[in-house]
Amino acid sequence: MFDLELKIAIAAVREAAVLSRNVQGTISASATEKADRSPVTVADLGAQALVCSRIRLAFPSDPIIAEEGSSILQKPENRTLADRVVEHVNGLRADADFRTVIEWVDLGGHKEYADRFWTLDPIDGTKGFLRGDQYAIALALVCDGLVQVSAVACPNLCLPDTGSERGILMTAVRGEGTKIYGLQSVMEIASTRVSLISSPEEIRFCESVESAHTSHSTAGKIAGIMGIRAEPIRLDSQAKYNMVAAGEAEIYMRLPSDRHYVENIWDHAAGALLVEEAGGCVTDVHGKQLDFGLGYQLKANRGIIATNGLVHESLLGAINEAGVK
Ligand code: AMP
Ligand code: MG
Repeated sequence: MFDLELKIAIAAVREAAVLSRNVQGTISASATEKADRSPVTVADLGAQALVCSRIRLAFPSDPIIAEEGSSILQKPENRTLADRVVEHVNGLRADADFRTVIEWVDLGGHKEYADRFWTLDPIDGTKGFLRGDQYAIALALVCDGLVQVSAVACPNLCLPDTGSERGILMTAVRGEGTKIYGLQSVMEIASTRVSLISSPEEIRFCESVESAHTSHSTAGKIAGIMGIRAEPIRLDSQAKYNMVAAGEAEIYMRLPSDRHYVENIWDHAAGALLVEEAGGCVTDVHGKQLDFGLGYQLKANRGIIATNGLVHESLLGAINEAGVK
């Protein structure tokens, strides 16, 4: 099932990863430039343009719910930024000019639920991207509210057993498992499964680097309740789902640190299927299934936990004991 969708998704995120790496190569390490967020804007918009145009060409009637919009490029004061986006997209697509880039970016402007739609985070983990750490290009196809296909490229993630190449691509199709590829090599490296570890002394858990995105203190409390000894692995982006799917961590915790924040679907749809198809389990902090049938936000859910399945119940118990609301 979904053979063509998977093929297109793989090609799209691979191409976007080339662009993101090209842009990252232009970031200078100097302290003054670190406050400059323009590289991530260039990569975000360029990657979105590339992915959306490929989807539109292959599946003309599929809506796309993506994170970015083109308005920033259209402001006269952002001319230099727009030129850089067009230059990077044009380096990979000879037919791209300012007008086509705007059009392609805005193909991702859907917000409402549809029976079949794609969702894209062109550069997930923008802070990681700027630091030269983890970030991801995450694309998923959702049909009737269920994620069916996903492709997540992590250009800076290295996993054991995936060779010396830096960067991986993970894909999943519902009912068909999760696979790992090198970012450049077309050959599949392996099918992947979650880890079989369940004893607290051995459990590894990951969480966001940003304490504004997840409560580090509450996660620490929950880890204490469970008897987890290891320090958290902190990394940006959906690479956390990749870690659980690859058996490199047993738990990913995302505990609301802002009472009013509602998660966006592009931050979770692709990653969640990777973990589920690798044999793991993904719910919100109350054990409820993620509902991708409500538009661009996970309105019916609160926080997220992804595990290898074996430790899911005990994690939910600890979350309850810690008083997470
Ligand atoms: P991460 O790399 O795991 O820290 O997640 C990055 C994503 O967090 C971004 O794409 C944002 O959409 C999302 N985000 C922004 N604000 C919050 C918040 N207050 N709580 C949770 N996630 C957030
Ligand atoms: Mg994101």
